Amino acid sequence: MDDAIVHLAALTAQRDRELLDVTLAQGVLDLLGSVSVGVHRLIGREDEARRWLCCGLARKGQIAVSDPSWVDLHALPLQGAHPLRERALASRLPEQSGPDADCAEHVMVMPLPVEVGLPGVLEVHSAEPLSVRAQRTIQTVLKVFGNFQNLLESSQRDALTSLLNRQTFDATFLKASMPVAERNADHADGERRSNEASAHWLGVVDIDHFKRVNDGFGHLIGDEVLVLVARIMRQTFRHHDRLYRFGGEEFVILLRGGNEEDAWGAFERFRINVAQYPFPQVQNVTVSVGFTEVRLQDTPNMAFARADQAVYRAKHQGRNQVLSHEALVRSGMLASAEEHIGDVELF
Ligand code: GH3
Ligand code: MG
Ligand code: MG
Repeated sequence: MDDAIVHLAALTAQRDRELLDVTLAQGVLDLLGSVSVGVHRLIGREDEARRWLCCGLARKGQIAVSDPSWVDLHALPLQGAHPLRERALASRLPEQSGPDADCAEHVMVMPLPVEVGLPGVLEVHSAEPLSVRAQRTIQTVLKVFGNFQNLLESSQRDALTSLLNRQTFDATFLKASMPVAERNADHADGERRSNEASAHWLGVVDIDHFKRVNDGFGHLIGDEVLVLVARIMRQTFRHHDRLYRFGGEEFVILLRGGNEEDAWGAFERFRINVAQYPFPQVQNVTVSVGFTEVRLQDTPNMAFARADQAVYRAKHQGRNQVLSHEALVRSGMLASAEEHIGDVELF
């Protein structure tokens, strides 16, 4: 049991939600001495084909980490591909199978007891069936894991919209602005990465004339608009894009991959989805969006300030539009950051 306590201490010291799954897999492997332990999560929207993502895998002598923001979604197995996992998730009870033609090992699958975040399972492969005692130990570790993950998730999400909150932005942003080579060094080899994956785009969204919504319909209806805009964001962007509410009626999106035109296309799709949505009572709501490419050496504030300048222009030009900071600089409507350097006082 002492070993279990050591692993629980390691688990609850973790602040990175994505690494929490790896710490769990590693802890259970150490405790059981099994062949391999994996944490698998179901990703994708509920109305789409969902896929299994391996978020943490520990084998004897090696650990593999899948960073959810870098996997190739379409290469992942579909929801129906793992009946044992399906059954464990549906029944919320452990499921096991012995060695068979497909697998020479015993497999035990236990649902993760998490209320917030992605549903998932812990999967243990072992040469012998797990003893009752071992199963009880894992159940205890899983309970602590579930409580801790729920706590971590709720501290990192905005209470009204469930989008990520501003406090979590800086850490994710620094990962995004890291050179690709460093990012790769952080993770195990053998993962698929697309070539264009180095780019990140930061978009700032501000609802147009939101004061009028509050003044005309009241704060409760205003809050409902915020919840619906957040839902449209989740439906518009892809699973590896990161969505934040920065407070008030301002949202931020960290978009992964693609070129400027792709980024513009994604933000424009979102703008149109909002403009076409029939909001209860209010009917029409529009957003202005500014975006910029995340550069090496960017601080979160620097990138945010560039995107925000583009939002300011969009408001000035009539609202309900998407503008890129880079395009505004090219057309001479905004000065580039380099031209501002002379104006900045350095302390
Ligand atoms: P603009 O098109 O220039 O952005 O106009 P705007 O009216 O949206 O202007 P501004 O951004 O200055 O106003 C934001 C308003 O959002 C002010 C405040 O009343 C409202 N607001 C901020 N936070 C909340 C919230 O949590 N709920 C509700 N209902 N309203 C909020
Ligand atoms: Mg605003
Ligand atoms: Mg506004």
